[in-house]
Amino acid sequence: MEFDSELRHRLDDHPPFAFCESVGASGRSPWHIRPLGPAGLKPGGGIDTPPLCKRFTGGWDLLVKIRPAHFKQQKDERRIVCPKCQDEYLALITKREPEVDRAWRYAPQQVTVHADDRLLWLNVESYVAYPPGKHPSECPIEQTLWALQMRSGTLHFYSRWWGFEEAKINSELRMIVRGFSSNDEVRMKWDLVPEDKIT
Ligand SMILES: [Zn+2]
Repeated sequence: MEFDSELRHRLDDHPPFAFCESVGASGRSPWHIRPLGPAGLKPGGGIDTPPLCKRFTGGWDLLVKIRPAHFKQQKDERRIVCPKCQDEYLALITKREPEVDRAWRYAPQQVTVHADDRLLWLNVESYVAYPPGKHPSECPIEQTLWALQMRSGTLHFYSRWWGFEEAKINSELRMIVRGFSSNDEVRMKWDLVPEDKIT
């Protein structure tokens, strides 16, 4: 498994897990990983949740921050981390929701629309931003978000709809938006708004 910068960030950012050892552990026993209970770290013993591999109950936490380097093992090296705990842990943290990008971006001036079985690249004629809970019936965006309609014609299929956490018109009188999944490759290419143009 490759440890890219995003995963590294998530590992650092994810304190509710701790390395732990069982009561019977020797210096050669692997470290296990447990999700911390409400009582937090128990370095003196008395851990109150089992490790992810469920192999034991009693033990103590190690005061060692979980880092990607702990999971990079040479073939002949003694394994530091219990393989079952490691697999479970990595699966848990990589399953988390994609991050939300919160940079302000300009709504684009051209959009692609599907019409009459053709894909068209059209200039946007108008932008309409509907607040959460106030979307029109034809809007496909969930009501918890701001819905941005970009109209490039009077017929509804000449509109593109997108959902955002926030939308507003800035001092340049342009529609600016922010708050969507950073996995969205299309919107991540939209131009960033300079700091002094956000208000
Ligand atoms: Zn384990």
